[in-house]
Amino acid sequence: EERTITCVGCGIEIQTTEKNQLGYTPPSALEKDVVTCQRCFRLKHYNEVQDISLTDDDFLKILHGLGERKALIVKIVDIFDFTGSWLPGLHRFVGNNEVLLVGNKVDLLPKSLNHNRLVNWMKKSAKDLGLRPVDVCLMSAEKGKGIEEVAEAIDHYRNGRDVFIVGCTNVGKSTFINQLIKAYGGDTEQLITTSHFPGTTLDMIDLPLDDGKTLYDTPGIINHHQMAHYVDSEELKVITPKKEIKPKVFQLNPEQTLFFGGLCRFDFAEGERSSFTCYLSNELMIHRTKKDKANSLYEQHVGELLVPPGPTSKETLPPLVKSTFLVREEKMDIVFSGLGWVTVHGQHLRIEAYAPKGVNVSIRESII
Ligand code: GDP
Repeated sequence: EERTITCVGCGIEIQTTEKNQLGYTPPSALEKDVVTCQRCFRLKHYNEVQDISLTDDDFLKILHGLGERKALIVKIVDIFDFTGSWLPGLHRFVGNNEVLLVGNKVDLLPKSLNHNRLVNWMKKSAKDLGLRPVDVCLMSAEKGKGIEEVAEAIDHYRNGRDVFIVGCTNVGKSTFINQLIKAYGGDTEQLITTSHFPGTTLDMIDLPLDDGKTLYDTPGIINHHQMAHYVDSEELKVITPKKEIKPKVFQLNPEQTLFFGGLCRFDFAEGERSSFTCYLSNELMIHRTKKDKANSLYEQHVGELLVPPGPTSKETLPPLVKSTFLVREEKMDIVFSGLGWVTVHGQHLRIEAYAPKGVNVSIRESII
């Protein structure tokens, strides 16, 4: 007869097959008298939150719950992949709750970038996407920059209410929570508990706040449109910037093409000679060619000259799909979700942008 085992920390049903899903524990841990899921185990013994991804259904359950509570919602986005990490549905579910928007990973953007301008850009972009945050903060969770300001903003705007931290996977939510624990957690083994979100089977990490209220860390939500799903972990390291991006400028004539590895392609199809600035991982190779040679170059050299993808992941990479953009205003960004963007300096240009089917490509007012 099958019996279900539950975690003593959070009550989640234990499973031993899916590492990044709720309730995972290594099979060997089942031998113990008391079984804890890996997420609770790490929290207890290393003071570290491990990020767990949710299915879309689970995420919807959490979202529905948020509107019914009186709380401050802290939404974290990756400033390097703003739209890709946005969580489009959120504003419909938060009810009357205020949302504090936090842009993480500012360390990746050029130091010369004016932060006020960036904050204003985020406010405007949020509004265009249907969300009016009470405020916008910037931080680098990894470098420990801006953490205090975000903590102060949270304390200011929560007005004695609970706090929910939300964000899709990879925005740096765990890094941020772990910084909070380090800075304010004190004797965390006593302080931090895990709990069920009412009405669901999801475990959340709770950090008690000084007035008896709670800060909840919700599990991360998988974003299906990110490039990360199409490359292997070594290749992901190449395309994910780790330090300040050094923009690369190209003066292009019409009918010229740039390949970003073999993952994306940028054609300057029509317009006057113009300047294009690429904001991509410093490790990602940019290959320039003529547009009429681009197809054959790609067919012959994807996986070797044009990498990533490597020889293996090229076999499973979805075919490149074209999107056409007409650039009317000076300084627009063409964004390849998860890979970066190209700032176009020029007017009345036609751009043809290619990305693997399923990866979002979009145009926006320039972030810089
Ligand atoms: P989560 O899935 O939202 O919990 O994200 P993690 O905290 O696991 O972070 C995802 C990735 O982003 C990791 O590789 C982190 O090292 C990286 N990361 C987190 N915060 C920052 C940051 O402020 N700057 C940079 N450059 N990388 C960060």
